[in-house]
Amino acid sequence: MLIGFDIGGTKTEVCVLDHSGHTQFRHRTPTPQTYDTFVATVADLIVLAEKEAGESCQQVGIGLPGAVSPATGLIKNANCTFLNGHDLQADLAKASGKTIHIANDANCFALSEAVDGAGKDGVVVFGAILGTGCGGGLILNQQVWGGRNAIGGEWGHNPLPGYTEEKDGPVRPCYCGRDNCVEQFISGTGLEKSYRIKTDKTLAAQDIIALMQQGDVVAGECYKQMVDQMGRCFAALINVLDPDVIVLGGGLSNVDELYRDLPQATMPYLFTDVAELCFKKAEYGDSSGIRGAAWLGR
Ligand SMILES: [Zn+2]
Repeated sequence: MLIGFDIGGTKTEVCVLDHSGHTQFRHRTPTPQTYDTFVATVADLIVLAEKEAGESCQQVGIGLPGAVSPATGLIKNANCTFLNGHDLQADLAKASGKTIHIANDANCFALSEAVDGAGKDGVVVFGAILGTGCGGGLILNQQVWGGRNAIGGEWGHNPLPGYTEEKDGPVRPCYCGRDNCVEQFISGTGLEKSYRIKTDKTLAAQDIIALMQQGDVVAGECYKQMVDQMGRCFAALINVLDPDVIVLGGGLSNVDELYRDLPQATMPYLFTDVAELCFKKAEYGDSSGIRGAAWLGR
């Protein structure tokens, strides 16, 4: 049995996965807001999970929105800011007596889908989360490829390839300090921005998609523009990695038209005349993150 944790800003979830990928136990609790209580809570949850699973589990995986700095071994970029600057792996190992594996939550999503989800037959699998923002994780041979600097798969803050004002509208500043990061375009937030620029109206991404599906012209234009932007972004990725499968997660992954439109939108930007492109919807949806965290300990 494997134990996995999904750490969010407000909720912490634990699960026990058996080796065939079946969830044996799942439990959710508010995320403690100080470091010491957090470590103690995770250690308690491990004890609870083992009790519920009825056996001892040595391997514990933790998925969180952040990363372990390869330079220092300390947590960085976590949105649970109290984790930043701490040696979480060592502290949790000490508190629980377990072997602790930590990875970014986007990598956990991609790992779950690569091990036994939508990308399970692929050697190279890219998991793209197209939600509020735009995250990504790269899996090679069913292992997370974190990279030398722990930024493997982080494509959300690349500049949008082939940006022109004519095609993509006015420059979009990003909170990271740069302009025209891809997540400013190919995300739910990006689609909402495109719609606001064209109509001066604020509408949620899912409502824009619903309008597009009903034949609304402006919503259709925004969707088409986003699909072309996605085509450019995915082509840049495919020209380097040529993955077997690209698995989509996040809110936009529920837009069925994307699986029809993305291969065609990507093709013109690829350095090949023929290509077999495989875009798939995540099989485990919101559960991918926690499942992938558990798979870290395989
Ligand atoms: Zn950015």
